[in-house]
Amino acid sequence: MDKDRRILDGGAIAIAGERILEVGPTTALKAKFPQAGIVDANGGVVHPGMVNAHQHLTGGVLIKSCVPDDWPSVRSIPNNIPMHQAQTGDTEELSATLSAVGSALNGVTMVIEAGSVNFPARLAAGVRKVGIRATTGVWGTTHPGRPHSGTADEVLARQKAVLDEFPPGGLVTGWVTLVGHSMGNDELMSGGADLARQYGVGMTMHMSPIKDDPESYLARFNRRPIEHLADIGVLGRHLLIGHGVWLDDSEVELMLESESAIAYCPWAYYRLGQGASLMGKHAEMFLRGGRIGLGCDAVNAGDQVDILRQASLAAGLAKDKMVDPSWFGAHEAFEMATIRGAEAIGMDHLLGSIEAGKMADIVIHDADHANWIPKGDPIIQLVWGTDGRSVRDVFVGGKEVVRAGRCVTVDLLELKQAATETAAALFAKTGIVYPHRWPHIEGV
Ligand SMILES: [Zn+2]
Repeated sequence: MDKDRRILDGGAIAIAGERILEVGPTTALKAKFPQAGIVDANGGVVHPGMVNAHQHLTGGVLIKSCVPDDWPSVRSIPNNIPMHQAQTGDTEELSATLSAVGSALNGVTMVIEAGSVNFPARLAAGVRKVGIRATTGVWGTTHPGRPHSGTADEVLARQKAVLDEFPPGGLVTGWVTLVGHSMGNDELMSGGADLARQYGVGMTMHMSPIKDDPESYLARFNRRPIEHLADIGVLGRHLLIGHGVWLDDSEVELMLESESAIAYCPWAYYRLGQGASLMGKHAEMFLRGGRIGLGCDAVNAGDQVDILRQASLAAGLAKDKMVDPSWFGAHEAFEMATIRGAEAIGMDHLLGSIEAGKMADIVIHDADHANWIPKGDPIIQLVWGTDGRSVRDVFVGGKEVVRAGRCVTVDLLELKQAATETAAALFAKTGIVYPHRWPHIEGV
C-alpha cells in the first residue's frame, strides 16, 4: 500500500523495535540482517494492519447480536441506554478487551472509538492489554437524559481531561469524542473542534446515518447538518464523522472542500435498513479524493469487527448502485481499509502501509486456509475471496498479538467466561429482555 501500490512477490520486511526498517527482496534482507529472527509467511499474503474508523468498543459489546434486526436504530439505541448506564469500569474494560481481541484476530490494528464510553481509562486498559491501537474518549452530549449529558463547559472539561491523559504517541490516543447527531449544542460542537485543533488530535461524532439528522437541523436552523457545522466552524481535517449517509450535494462539497473525513460503515446501514444504497455517496467522494475510511459501528449494528467484510460490501454496493462494475472495486475498498483509512483518521504518516519508517503493524494471512487455495490476485482475493477468518499472524508496533489464528496476549476462553457471566448480570440488573422472533424452546 505504498504510493505506487507495489505488490512484492516473495518480499520481506525488516523490523526494528516498533518500526519498519526496510522492505525488499527476502534474500537481500536476510543477507543484510543475518542476526534477525524470522517469521516465515509461508507464501501467505502480508498486508498493513487495517483501520477501523468507527467502532463502539464498549457499550453494547456484552449484548452482541441480541437486539432484533427488525428494530430501527431510533428504537434500539434508547432501549440500549440502560445497558450502557449499567456498565462499571470493570465491564467496560472487559468489553474493550473483547472488541480489541476480535479486531486483532481480523487483522484490524487501529480502531477509532465511536463515542459511548463511561470510563475512557478502562477502555484504554483493555485495548493495551490486547496490544492493538485505539482512540479513547468519553461520552459527550448536551442532550438531556443521555448518559454524561451536561453543559457544554462540563462536557468539554471531561473531553479535555481525556486528551491530557492520553496524548498522541502511545497505543491509545485521546480524541474529542462527541455523540453528534442533534445531541450537542453549538457551543459543544464548536468547542470540541477548537479543542481537537488545539491538541492536534481528531474529533469524531455521528451525523446523518438516517434522515432524522437533516430533518432536525432543517427544522431548527433551516440548514442541513453539514451546512450548519460549516457555519459554526466545526468542519476541517480534525473532523471524522461517523456515517454521512444522508448528505445532499452541497454537503458533499462542503465535506470535500474542508477535507473533513467520514467513517463509512456499510454493514450497519444494511443491518438497520438505513438507505445507504439509495443515498450513500461515499464511493464518489472517495474517488474525488475524499477522506473516507471504513468502520463496523456497534455490535448490534454490524455485529462483527471485520473490516474486510466492510470492504467487500463497500465495493459491491458501489458497483450495484451504478449498475456498473467498472468504476469502484476491491482495490479502492482495500485502500479504504488501509492507507486511505489511515489518511481519514490523520495517521497515514504512521499507519496504513508497509514502508520504511512506518509502524510495524503487519497482518499475515494463512496460505493454507481454504480461502487462499489456490492463490489468485491478492487484492481481489482479500476483498472478495476471504475475510478476517484467514488471518494467521498480526503484529502491532513489531509486537506479536496474533499467532496461528489465536490471540497471544489474552486468553479468549477466560474472556468468554467473564463475558458470559457479566452479560447475564447486566441483563439481570437492567431487566432488559430482547424478544426472539422465533420461539426458543428451553430444556430440550
Ligand atoms: Zn456509532
